[in-house]
Formats: sequence, C-alpha cells, structure tokens
Amino acid sequence: MPEGHTIHRLAEDYAAAFPAGTPLRVTSPQGKFADAAALLDRTPLHTTDAHGKHLFLGFGDAEPAEWVHIHLGLFGKVTFGPAPAPPPTDTVRLRLADATSYVDLRGPTTCALITDGEKRAVHDRLGPDPLRPDADPALAHRRIGRSRTTIAALLMDQKVIAGVGNVYRAEVLFRHGIDPYRAGRDITPAEWDAIWADLVALMREGVRNNRIDTVRPEHTPEAMGRPPRVDDHGGEVYVYRRAHLPCHICGGEIRTADLAARNLFWCPECQRR
Ligand SMILES: [Zn+2]
Repeated sequence: MPEGHTIHRLAEDYAAAFPAGTPLRVTSPQGKFADAAALLDRTPLHTTDAHGKHLFLGFGDAEPAEWVHIHLGLFGKVTFGPAPAPPPTDTVRLRLADATSYVDLRGPTTCALITDGEKRAVHDRLGPDPLRPDADPALAHRRIGRSRTTIAALLMDQKVIAGVGNVYRAEVLFRHGIDPYRAGRDITPAEWDAIWADLVALMREGVRNNRIDTVRPEHTPEAMGRPPRVDDHGGEVYVYRRAHLPCHICGGEIRTADLAARNLFWCPECQRR
C-alpha cells in the first residue's frame, strides 16, 4: 500500500499536469465512474489536496465545487503520459486529459464524487498528517498518550496519525531507538515531538524524491562501504524488509514479527528504550 508521501506527490503531479482554468476531458473507460465523469467533463481541475492516503481532486472554475475522492488501496495505480492519450483499456476507472497530457487511474479502492461537506468528514476522521501544514501533532499525542496499544500499532492507525505506513513506522522507531512494543502512553511528549519532526522531514524528502530513504548520511552505502540495497521500492533503510540481516549500526540481527496485520521490522539491540 502506498504511504502518504506517494499520495501528496500524486496531488502535486496532477496539479502540474493540468493548469487551472483548462477544461479537461473526464472519462471513465471502465464505466464504474461514468455518471460522475460525465458531470465533470469539460470542467477544469481547480486544486488538489491530500490527507494521509486520501487524494482529492477539486473541479470547478472559480473554486472547487466538487471533489473526486480517491483512495488507491492495495492495487490502485496512476499513470501520467503526454497527449495524445492511447486508446484506454477497460481497466481505466478515471482518465483526465487535455491537449498536452493525460492521467489514468486504475484499480482504486475508492473513486467517488463528493461534496465539500463530505470531504470535511473524511478529514475529520483522519489523524494529523505530517505532510499537511495545518497538522497538529499534539492531537496525535493526546490519543497516543492515553493508549495501552503498542506505538508500532498506533503509528499505523490512520485515526491517530495519517499517512504513515509500514516503512515509515519501522524506520522512525529505529531512528529514535524506540522499542516498537512500548505502549503509547509510555511515549513522552519530548519523544513524540522528536518522532513527529523526524516524520515531517523524512516524508517531505519522500515527496521530493518519490521514494523512501531513511538512513543518516553516515550510514549510506558510500559512507559505510557497503553495497546499496536491492529492492523494488529502492531507497536506503535501516530495518524495513531486512529481516535476519545484520543491523547497519550494531551488527545484530534484524527481527520481524506480525504487528497490526503487517510485518514489523526492528533491531532488538538498538531499540531498547
Ligand atoms: Zn542494531
């Protein structure tokens, strides 16, 4: 499942592909979004927004009157290309196109036309997102600070904090030496402030580079004289998908376990706090 940085990057890329004011061709070759697409057809994309793993495309002339709410889920994919768009396959849920480019959305969990009020309701049920300027980290800490649940599970709970997925949760806990099984209520405000600030920096870099890198400069392959990581996702990490490999810092074995329905990775030696 894509993490929040991917969705914020998509919001930027959709906005960059279609300058405000240009009426778009909006279609649903697959048919599942056909009625809504017909309503939006020949309307400009006014603005884009992201909160956690939710993407919003606002259509309208002077202000976004209607929003397309997209959640990619596990299988959703977005492809960008130059005009002319190729004939669409019947897997394309939503195609936006103008004279210079097109964007296809396939296989999302959600692709729905919603009102401003419905959009607000989505924001209201999500926790603060480190990539949003309006995010309030104290709100997340209030929920974490009264919970007996492990910090590793809380970081994956989108109602507590939005946009963090399996890679960022494992990596940020490693970077702060925090045992993933510690209860949320044992995380001090100072620790939470440090985790939050780190997520803001790491996830912003993720948006910029469109991939997740979490190792500090002294732990890059070049600095350590080690081979770079080989993985579909790219990016240099400390523990994610490194089960049974030696820790970059202590040399101990990275461990893995199931936590909150996803594989957790951590170094028991470096994460004792
Ligand atoms: Zn270690």
